[in-house]
Amino acid sequence: MTLTADQVLFEKAKRHIPGGVNSPVRAFAGVGGTPVFVSRAKGAYMYDTEGREYIDYVGSWGPMILGHAHPKVIDAVKLACDDGLSFGAPTPFETTMADLIADIIPHIELIRMVSSGTEATMSAIRLARGYTGRDKIVKFEGCYHGHSDSLLVKAGSGMLDIGEPTSKGVPADFAKHTVTLPYNDIDALQSAFDKFGDEFACVILEPIAGNMNMVIPSQEFHNTLRELCTKHGAVLIFDEVMTGFRVGLRGASHHFGITPDLSTFGKIIGAGLPVGAFGGKREIMECIAPLGGVYQAGTLSGNPLAMRAGKAMFDELTRPNFYEELTAKTAKLVNGLQALAGKHGIDFASCHVGGMFGLFFAKELPKNFNDVACADTKRFNQFFHAMLKQGIYLAPSAFEASFMSIAHTDDDIERTLVCADKAFGELIG
Ligand code: PMP
Repeated sequence: MTLTADQVLFEKAKRHIPGGVNSPVRAFAGVGGTPVFVSRAKGAYMYDTEGREYIDYVGSWGPMILGHAHPKVIDAVKLACDDGLSFGAPTPFETTMADLIADIIPHIELIRMVSSGTEATMSAIRLARGYTGRDKIVKFEGCYHGHSDSLLVKAGSGMLDIGEPTSKGVPADFAKHTVTLPYNDIDALQSAFDKFGDEFACVILEPIAGNMNMVIPSQEFHNTLRELCTKHGAVLIFDEVMTGFRVGLRGASHHFGITPDLSTFGKIIGAGLPVGAFGGKREIMECIAPLGGVYQAGTLSGNPLAMRAGKAMFDELTRPNFYEELTAKTAKLVNGLQALAGKHGIDFASCHVGGMFGLFFAKELPKNFNDVACADTKRFNQFFHAMLKQGIYLAPSAFEASFMSIAHTDDDIERTLVCADKAFGELIG
């Protein structure tokens, strides 16, 4: 049997890269098959090493909200390259970026740049612990906040049991400080705070979850969480690494009208270059070195390429009607998919906010991780491959959200729907 170009590349990659990939979900472990090796991308399209075109709804897992290789972003990076790649000293571009974000999101009074989303959440948690002098943290089942030790923890068998690591290599001694609760569950929240509230340093959550496919929690859940954190002096951290500047210019905090104490960002703010950030209330942020005793640092933090790419991107995001246009594109695709599933008599549920959407083979929209796990992943995987075969690149996992970019045209979306019609049809047959 002759191997495809991707199969050859995958085998080669596996010789010196664990599993052939530098981040696990790229290996297509959930959906099966061989990952597509990408040679380049432009606008809404990615091209494999043989020049095959895919309409891309992953967008590098979120950053590519303008589409790939946007000319203004690429020009900004080229100019930045000519001036040198990193200095380990402050630049005016870092101030520009901080001012931009603080202007858009009023509760960001101080902000610190880092190099990834993982670093942003890890640092925000250390800061919350340093600020409150408490150890325990709360996270929610199905939310992902990067791969730092405290956050790779799931709930024990009972709701409020001591956390157990979900990854080997995370000491149980670390995990025991993490309480994991079911997402979007007000009763669980209330009883956790009744029991431990005054011991919680912080609660961290994805305000709209995008790492268990996509789950939009209730307004009441958010209101209750904000009230309980305030009452018990726990720092409320919105992890907006994915939702920031994605579900709307002001992110999920604005969507729900909630003011968190700290927020974390990544992905979009670097336009595709490695970046992360955490920021919020001045009083809390002033605990970070060099102002305060919570240590946090980074050789490449505030990298000039990332800052200048991010600035070019913000120039586009802040133009009038950007998010209205983006939302209309997402709605057109998602409503179209929903209608086609109906036509084929397939149980299907979908949701979307701004440029982010979730697709489930289920009768109803999941409300939490348990519901997501009950959706039909076998059908999802079949659908994924039927679409991929036709040149449509959806998130290669039933547990990830997908993303729209402003570069996707009506034609791209219509072409996607024609392919979906066929893919849904094949599911029945
Ligand atoms: N938080 C959220 C909500 C994320 O979606 C991710 C990555 N998908 C992270 C944190 C971690 O970011 P990074 O992969 O840049 O470390």
